[in-house]
Amino acid sequence: SQTPSHPILNGLNDAQRRAVTSEAATVAILAGPGSGKTHTLTARVVWLVDHQGIRPEDVIVATFTVKAAREMKERIGKALGNGRENKLILGTFHSIARRYLAAYGRHIGLNPKFGIADANDSSEIIKRICKRLQLAIDPAGARAWISKKKSKGNEATPKSARQEASKTAGLQELDTCYHEYQKHLEASNLLDYDDLLVKCVDLLRKFPSSVSNIQTVLIDEYQDTNGVQYDLMKLFAQHRQRITTVGDPDQSIYGWRSAEIRNLWKMLREYPQTDEISLEENYRSSQAILDLSLEIIKQDQKRYNKALKPTHNKGSRPVLRRLKSASAEADWIVSEIRRVLVMSGDMLTHNDVAILLRSAALSRHIETSLGKAGIPYRMVGGFKFYERAEIKVLIDYLRVIHQPKNNDALANILNVPRRGIGESSIKGLLEEAETSSLSLWDVLTKHCRGDRTAKTKLTKQAEQQLSGSLLRPLQDIRRRIDEANGSNQTPFGLVEMIEQLLAKLNFQEHLKKKYPDPDDHGQRWANVQEFVNLAAEFERDMRRSNEDELPEIEGLDQTRETEALPRFLANVALASDAQTKDDEGQRQPLVTISTIHAAKGLEWPIVFVPAVYDGSIPHTRAEDGDEERRLLYVAMTRAQSLLYLSWPLFGANGNGERNQLSPFIEPASRFFMSKGPCLDRPVMAEIARILRRKLPSERLIYSSLPAMFSPEDDLFPVEPEEASKVLEHEFDRQLRRYLEEVPRTKRPRLYG
Ligand code: ATP
Ligand code: MG
Repeated sequence: SQTPSHPILNGLNDAQRRAVTSEAATVAILAGPGSGKTHTLTARVVWLVDHQGIRPEDVIVATFTVKAAREMKERIGKALGNGRENKLILGTFHSIARRYLAAYGRHIGLNPKFGIADANDSSEIIKRICKRLQLAIDPAGARAWISKKKSKGNEATPKSARQEASKTAGLQELDTCYHEYQKHLEASNLLDYDDLLVKCVDLLRKFPSSVSNIQTVLIDEYQDTNGVQYDLMKLFAQHRQRITTVGDPDQSIYGWRSAEIRNLWKMLREYPQTDEISLEENYRSSQAILDLSLEIIKQDQKRYNKALKPTHNKGSRPVLRRLKSASAEADWIVSEIRRVLVMSGDMLTHNDVAILLRSAALSRHIETSLGKAGIPYRMVGGFKFYERAEIKVLIDYLRVIHQPKNNDALANILNVPRRGIGESSIKGLLEEAETSSLSLWDVLTKHCRGDRTAKTKLTKQAEQQLSGSLLRPLQDIRRRIDEANGSNQTPFGLVEMIEQLLAKLNFQEHLKKKYPDPDDHGQRWANVQEFVNLAAEFERDMRRSNEDELPEIEGLDQTRETEALPRFLANVALASDAQTKDDEGQRQPLVTISTIHAAKGLEWPIVFVPAVYDGSIPHTRAEDGDEERRLLYVAMTRAQSLLYLSWPLFGANGNGERNQLSPFIEPASRFFMSKGPCLDRPVMAEIARILRRKLPSERLIYSSLPAMFSPEDDLFPVEPEEASKVLEHEFDRQLRRYLEEVPRTKRPRLYG
């Protein structure tokens, strides 16, 4: 047979090429970190579309995070050209499910204007229910329990959960909570994360034709899919049964969110003809980093062993360092960052550094130290921009504009800015709504109309305020949306709407009053501006690509979303890994602070993993020790060239108790070097080699290595082929300059 050829196959190794071009209906790629799974999956999409001629709108690609989706789309776009990547149905499971529900949800009785309750909203709702009904259960536990019930897939209805619950008394309470919670969501036309998946399963079962066009389904980070996602995958693929999954059981770190490693074997069982492919070369990390990582994961006795060979040289041994306190640890990290960057000349920038944390709570000291040193940083995962008080309020305003019946959102904004409505009045109004089966919005309207039957006592002034500064502006905006919808005009812009809202609320004044410290309100107002920017960007993107549109299916009515608002709100709710600021738009290189969970799938030349002590990793509250070890493994395997682990001897609580080094690391101590990392020339050359390795395969090099090129080089108006050559040339030029300072004897290692 003839070997197939296509530019996307260049630079791939044999196994990767085989995976990209496999003719099998189901393909499962099982391989370790940095072996090019995501790279291969991306190439396979390009291959299927560009070589096999499958229409992009007939391809579903599921990634684990929003960031990963964005990156993959960009890469596919570079290879496909013509903006064809915008037609792919590409995103996280949740965002794809949302898209289907927005388009076809009506057929299963869903009001298409549904809103999304994010993780925080769910917690709040559950907390309130527990309080109201005086349930003696832990709200966080209840939420996890409810979510688990829902993610079980087939048995996700409250009824079946209740049946199970009646077995024990404690479960009875949980069940009541579940029932109330679901009732509350339905009354407010909200879907939580689990509902998005469960309802989509329901839709695809009842209306298989909604995915009748789908030719093939591809899934990254498959090891972290849960039961419902597995069902969804099968249902997406129900007509052609063509599925490609890539995953690594060693990197399964979402068991606490019901992910099931078992799905890996389940697929092989259910699709016995599956073409199983393993990738055995690691292209990411230096040999020293890989050796240490494997030593750690090897401690897991039950694991499925896979080969993973380094393709890079030894490099510098990882560093393990004990510091006195968490703040000393943070200071040390910062001083190392400065030292390494200075040593590297212009080879590395702040963009090349990541600090990966077991939990978001650990970031305080690191942020302080970076701030003191004037090092700019971005925060990813768990530190949500959208959760800041001033942003949350704005989002709640937008949610009420979208769905006036969203009682939770409306209750949150009743007294922001201050309108003289106290906690007890808000509670009274909510109760009034409950007993009269009206929405809070309707109750307020009654009050403002001076309706005598209104029960809750509000002062005249408060009523005037309510009507003047809350209801009227919101009604104005709603009216404009309705008019635009009726007349088929484009509804007015998101940004215009937000700006109008800010002006009508006198929001800047409100911030000044609420946060008198000028630095404080200044920063918050800057955040608001940033939010407006994000909205502007979202709108721009939406106009450029019809990203959320699904192709027309004959015989099945589709609801078209014309407004930007619901999509924007969904985007906000689903961006669980949202960044503080728009990374891409950032010219200035930034150090990344991320949770380990949110760093999955990513890589950086320099990685710090602080707080590797017993109680932090494994975490005191963690149920599954093996999963904690895998978490550490995921963190370490993000590193390409330099890896630092550290821990503070004394805890933050100041009780004089000593921390102990993580038991995962203890047995691997011989893999570390005792003092600082070795940054001699061979090591620097190895760093350069690792960076250089990316070049032929990654045209995105420009964005990942900005310091390599001066901005005035202006490389991008050229064709991709051309650009890649120019980039390589440019890279070599920089490299050569660096090498001029390296003794001749060292050079062959780089060009050999
Ligand atoms: P993870 O398990 O962490 O998600 P992965 O298996 O998805 O890792 P990728 O992120 O796809 O790995 O690839 C790791 C790095 O190796 C990337 O920088 C990628 O560009 C590079 N890479 C992959 N395949 C090759 C190859 N054949 N030649 C050179 N570099 C490669
Ligand atoms: Mg990957």
